This record gives sequence, C-alpha cells and structure tokens, in this order.
Amino acid sequence: MAQLVYKSKINKIRSFALFLIFAGFGFMYGGIFTRNTEWLMATFFVIGILCVIFSTVVYFWIGMLSTKAVPIICPNCEKPTKMLGRVDACMHCKQPLTLDKDLEGEEFDEKLNSGKYRREFNKKRRSEKK
Ligand SMILES: [Zn+2]
Repeated sequence: MAQLVYKSKINKIRSFALFLIFAGFGFMYGGIFTRNTEWLMATFFVIGILCVIFSTVVYFWIGMLSTKAVPIICPNCEKPTKMLGRVDACMHCKQPLTLDKDLEGEEFDEKLNSGKYRREFNKKRRSEKK
C-alpha cells in the first residue's frame, strides 16, 4: 500500500522559496546563452530577477507565518516543531498533528484547515453517530 507522506506546511513553503531561487538563477544563466538575441536575454534576466524577488517575498512571508505558528513538542519524535492551522505535519518525522480535539484520531486531511470543509465534515460525522 502506498503510504502518503505529509509535509509540514512551513517546510513546504520553504522548499518552494528555495526552488524559486534556483529557477531564478536558472533563468539568468539561460540569459547568458541567449546573449546574441538581446530581447531574449533581457526577458530571461527579468524573469530570473522576478523569481528571486518573489522568493524573497515568500521567505519574508514564512517569517511572518512562523511567528503565528504554534510551537509544540511532537508526540512522536519529541522534537520541537511548529504548526500552522489546525492540521499540520511534524517538520521532522512528518507525523500528522492536530490542535483540534474534535479531529483527534481522524484521518489526516489538509482540507480540514478550511473552515467550510471542517463544518461539513463535523456535520457529517455527527449524523453518522446518531
Ligand atoms: Zn515529529
């Protein structure tokens, strides 16, 4: 059976920002190869710079998110981790975690972070219990 691996949200955003930096440098590097075509080189450089700027913004955003994240000790690996939203995964062992007692023991689903989905989920669960 294929096992789903959940990534902690902060780690996910972080790897996205890192990817952007690499993409940005990739584009600028591509610009060097197209230096004979001026407009193409300019386009590559602009895209590259935009990627790097965007990644800086994303890094800044992670910083903001981290201050809002709830620091907890992971019950599985006992390392300190941070949680974003009600449902998140441990940064170290990827153990699914929840802050919501109602959701404890439920199947891990990132959709549970959305209020609308969670209300429907709880409603459905209550009607099943009856
Ligand atoms: Zn852990």
